Amino acid sequence: MPKASVHREEEEFPWDLGVFDAHCHPTDTMTSLDSIPSMKAKGLTVMATRAQDQVLVACAADRLGIPTDTNPEDWTRDQKIIPCFGWHPWFSHQMFDVNTYDGKEQLDEESKIAHYQTVLTPKSDDRDFLLALPDPRSFAHFLQQTHQYLERYPLALVGEIGLDKQFRIPGSWLPENYESRDDSLTPGGREGRDLSPYRVHMDHQKKVLTAQLNLAGELQRAVSIHGVQAHGILFETLQQTWKGYEKRVPSKRELKKRANDQNANIEEEQIQKIEDSSSPKPYPPRICLHSYSGTAETLKQYCHPSIPTEVFFSFSTTINFSHPAGSKTETVIQACPDDKILIESDLHTAGDRMDYYLEEIVRKVCQLKDWSLSDGVNRLAENWHRFVFGHIDPHKH
Ligand SMILES: [Zn+2]
Repeated sequence: MPKASVHREEEEFPWDLGVFDAHCHPTDTMTSLDSIPSMKAKGLTVMATRAQDQVLVACAADRLGIPTDTNPEDWTRDQKIIPCFGWHPWFSHQMFDVNTYDGKEQLDEESKIAHYQTVLTPKSDDRDFLLALPDPRSFAHFLQQTHQYLERYPLALVGEIGLDKQFRIPGSWLPENYESRDDSLTPGGREGRDLSPYRVHMDHQKKVLTAQLNLAGELQRAVSIHGVQAHGILFETLQQTWKGYEKRVPSKRELKKRANDQNANIEEEQIQKIEDSSSPKPYPPRICLHSYSGTAETLKQYCHPSIPTEVFFSFSTTINFSHPAGSKTETVIQACPDDKILIESDLHTAGDRMDYYLEEIVRKVCQLKDWSLSDGVNRLAENWHRFVFGHIDPHKH
């Protein structure tokens, strides 16, 4: 009998061991927050993406946040959320650099047009289109606000941030869009609008990403990263932030020598301890590449021992298995180190559907990794715990 048959659909799912969503967007449907206490999942990592949802994520954390003295055994049904604050690449064009506009907090019409002509590609001369785009906001101001949120919520992470080479910005809102729009959705998303031909310059996206990585490093918070068709440039951008901080990888000879020399071992441990202290750095201490769509080769690149940050890879059935790339994802999951895998729903609404997608991806990962469900759920919980809190759950050991 093939081994995989152990994971029969009817095998009961061990929700009681604790299932954690590494990346989701329940504040896209605010009414769905009411369903969170009755969800089977134990923890949700809730992303912010744009102007409209930063405050909503904060409100969600006020209502349903996980308390700072973290003993998962004690979390109640009303304590499930880790809030994350960040600006998504799909909205990066809405940010302007105050230095370019003489410290202005708001842009007048001409500056607004100039800004969008600079950050969008191809360059548009359609004034009506450009003026109908959202009023851009000061990036410095946003960073300041995010800093405040991170201080107010000591467990909060930075996300969703990243790079996307594929997306094009949606067209402006037309009167008929307003008439037919679904009022239960938080504004600011695409909502089925046609896409314009315009993309956001990579240089601009990189600036917006890098500043948020630096902020996460300053406050020593993990980040959740979106990367689509930009795996090379994303790696380079991240690598830039830890330049000069690479860990020295001992040669085989050194390792051998060390094995024979107890004193050298202790010295090395002390150095390591100093390096690991939680002092501010320009790069985040932990990174989750959400709905990871890169190859197994790129994954290996992120696991190089010289990289001073811990990189996790998160998978969802909605994104990773929804297109023909599914079979590639299977290879990638198999190649992913067991202690670096996370799972997510990436869903815009909380409730039964979110639980359903979480169960689906956990079963898929367990099947591909040849883990029993209880073993897999435990491993994934431990990985999530390390990603969010930076250490393993002390109550499990
Ligand atoms: Zn997302």
